[in-house]
Amino acid sequence: MTTWKSIKLPLGDKSYLQDVYVFVFKKDDGFIMLDAGLNTNESFNALLAGLKDLGYELRKLKKLIISHYHLDHCGLAVRLQKLTSAPVYLHENDRKILLFFKEHIEGYPEKVKDFYCSYGVPENIMKNIASELYGYKALLLGPTETVHINDGDIFEIEDGYLRVVHTPGHTPGHISLFYPEKKIFFGADFLLPDEWPHGGIYPHTAGYNPIGDYLKSLEKVKALEPEIIIPSHKEPIYDPVKRIEESILFMKKKIEEIYDILKKKGHLSLAQICDMAFKVYDSSLSYFFLLSVGLGYMRYMIEEGLAEEVRDNKFILFRAK
Ligand SMILES: [Zn+2]
Ligand SMILES: [Zn+2]
Repeated sequence: MTTWKSIKLPLGDKSYLQDVYVFVFKKDDGFIMLDAGLNTNESFNALLAGLKDLGYELRKLKKLIISHYHLDHCGLAVRLQKLTSAPVYLHENDRKILLFFKEHIEGYPEKVKDFYCSYGVPENIMKNIASELYGYKALLLGPTETVHINDGDIFEIEDGYLRVVHTPGHTPGHISLFYPEKKIFFGADFLLPDEWPHGGIYPHTAGYNPIGDYLKSLEKVKALEPEIIIPSHKEPIYDPVKRIEESILFMKKKIEEIYDILKKKGHLSLAQICDMAFKVYDSSLSYFFLLSVGLGYMRYMIEEGLAEEVRDNKFILFRAK
């Protein structure tokens, strides 16, 4: 019998991803869990039902490991902390982001607006995004009373152990769990079968280089030679090395593409770069994520000496170097 199981939790109508998997590993007379789903009653009830189907009771939760701070992964952690005595493990880089949200939650959507407006994104577009974000405020509050988790940490389970692999890029503190015994890699949002989960830059990660980190994480996981990567969304990846190589290639091509655009067009704003270099978006929120990704690419290119920021009277623009 496998010592791990997954439970599918709903993400509601608003999310394009539809659901998220949490993973349950047998340990002594209880279980360890990776991730906690969205902080909604629907998701909580699905978790209880899923545990029951597997023959577990919630009170037998020994440890809760959170892969990263996104609300579809850490949402229920505070509720579970109150209901059980299980410690919650989270990487310090992402705990700092949750602390930031706690401190700035009231003004956060406004901060987002000002942040991207400073890169020349039109104010009316950012106002729409900010008003959408107000609806998510309550969901942004994740666990901050957590135990630090680091690369190389070990969690014993019934049939061996899981090793923590710090895989930043999607977020600065993103961790995955490697099960060396079976070469299974529980990758959370590290790698998905049909999209590119590199992270972006937001007001709460303003100094971050997500693309640079992500490229390093891809190489790091490739070197572990996992046989299968099980993500938290969608289907398992049965040929992980191929998918990792595709991701690296995609990003390198994108960097070249942006570089060529900048070379040809001269000074461009973030919005102009995103319009020219990325696929069209279908909602305010997906445009918001696109802007963050575009900024992530620009940070990488600046650090690699391929581009630089230029300030005109009002905005920050970019040009090739
Ligand atoms: Zn995520
Ligand atoms: Zn996710």
